[in-house]
Amino acid sequence: MIDVDAALQSLLDPAPLQGPWPVGLPSMELSRSPAAARVGRLAARDGLLLAHFEHRAPLEVPEGAPTWSAGVLPEDKYGSFQHELPIGSFHPGHRAKWGAHELCHGLVGGAWRPGASPLFLATAGRLAEIVPVVLWYFLDEIGLRRCPLHTGPLFRAFCPDCEAEAAHGAAPIEPDRARTLLQEADTFLERELAAIARTRRLGRPVSHVWGSIDLCSDGLAYADAHGPRLGSGAFAAWAERFFDEGRSGWSSLEALEARVIAVARAVACGGSLATWADDPAQGRARWIAMDLGARLLELRELTEGEAAVELLALVDRLARGEAAGPVAADYVALCEDFVLPSADVVLALGYAVEGVATRSIERIEEGLQTVVPGTLELCRDAGVDPVPAFVAADEAARVPLGERFARWAEHAAPGPVAELARYEAALCSVQAGARARILGPKGEGIRLIEGARLLRFSLDPVALAAAVDSGEIEGRRIAAGPGPGAGGGLGVAVEGDLDDPTALIVARERSGELLIVDVSPGDADRIERDPEALEPDVRDALAQLGLLVPRRWSLV
Ligand SMILES: [Zn+2]
Ligand SMILES: [Zn+2]
Repeated sequence: MIDVDAALQSLLDPAPLQGPWPVGLPSMELSRSPAAARVGRLAARDGLLLAHFEHRAPLEVPEGAPTWSAGVLPEDKYGSFQHELPIGSFHPGHRAKWGAHELCHGLVGGAWRPGASPLFLATAGRLAEIVPVVLWYFLDEIGLRRCPLHTGPLFRAFCPDCEAEAAHGAAPIEPDRARTLLQEADTFLERELAAIARTRRLGRPVSHVWGSIDLCSDGLAYADAHGPRLGSGAFAAWAERFFDEGRSGWSSLEALEARVIAVARAVACGGSLATWADDPAQGRARWIAMDLGARLLELRELTEGEAAVELLALVDRLARGEAAGPVAADYVALCEDFVLPSADVVLALGYAVEGVATRSIERIEEGLQTVVPGTLELCRDAGVDPVPAFVAADEAARVPLGERFARWAEHAAPGPVAELARYEAALCSVQAGARARILGPKGEGIRLIEGARLLRFSLDPVALAAAVDSGEIEGRRIAAGPGPGAGGGLGVAVEGDLDDPTALIVARERSGELLIVDVSPGDADRIERDPEALEPDVRDALAQLGLLVPRRWSLV
């Protein structure tokens, strides 16, 4: 399927890739490997984009769906993916590999036909996943930098050091390793397509299992989760208006399979690929129209009478190519005449549309309540709502919500309120360092346990958080203005006694309990630069708490 020699040659002697990057993700995610860069450039040609998972509001939250906890909103694996919609998802909690994976889905597209059987839908779901998976495990690994401990894909494990290394950009190609990965990619593709051919011949699902990867079973899960939706009247009404063979999707398994092979070859060898769109702007406008159209049709299902007629008229305008902005504005107007879900929810698409508020402030507010509650309380005391300004400034970054908010607050308004946000966010983002706790204290050298954080503050955030909680300290409104001072940029100042500068180690015990230890500023310096230089009693005390661990563990 893939010409390995040609693919290798294209990597060793690459034609310069030109053009813009797609929007909705940091472009760094696409310069981590030559394959990711190819996906990015091809996706940008078609105006493909990602929607921010936390900014996008679901129309209806299904029962049992994950909710915010400690500033994290998990994505429901089979619930969210919709192969018929080429707009992917940007989840701040996912690793950078997801960026190219999601865009690759957009390049491949999905297959649907009226009355499609469950096995058709399962096989289409399976086909749609092949190239994104080949990219993830093989093609994206070529030229991808990793930490010294890792040499290949990590499956479920997450390594922050690998993420940091890869962010430096693609490494020079090692021809032997590249050839091996290209051959593995080709083998995976061949075997998967052969299993799909047998599936179609036998009329029974035939798996091709590689490690923990089983796309046949994923396809069945997709058909199970999405079958009712794909078979609904609302979906048929959507497909009738927006589904366009070769321009937005495929109506047969054969056509989708041909596209899978074409995308695999274009990403592996850097060759040409038929575009979905005439130009990026036209493509982007169509994807947005499809997305908003689907949401309005979903609403129409829940509506009756004249409101339903009006909603269908809006969808028809989108289908005829009218821009989303004016249609969105008319939805806002429609909300004045009829009882309809708030435009704040319906239009919260999670990516920019000119003239439309597309980021859900409510959803972010809910998330912030679970990670920086004390900070928000100070703001409430002062009658200040920091969330809209934060949401407007929030960029796509693979950083937890609390940390993003704290960085924003520190930038907008350094001072006690921002420091409290940084402290609260850290409490949610420290991890247990489980391996080091299993491996114990015996070994050589010392360092801070992985997953712990060493943080410095100009006040005592533990005391501040307690005082805010008990109501001893309240926020007070002041004239907002950027720059240093007591929360000036947020317009919130803190009244009350604030203690001296503090350095804290924040960690998590194996049991999940938080561990917060005060250290002197001098010891904080030593922990950062040279933990060996700590006084023996300090060192022993921190080691006893499991916060300092060996650099190398004993094998005897
Ligand atoms: Zn996928
Ligand atoms: Zn690593």
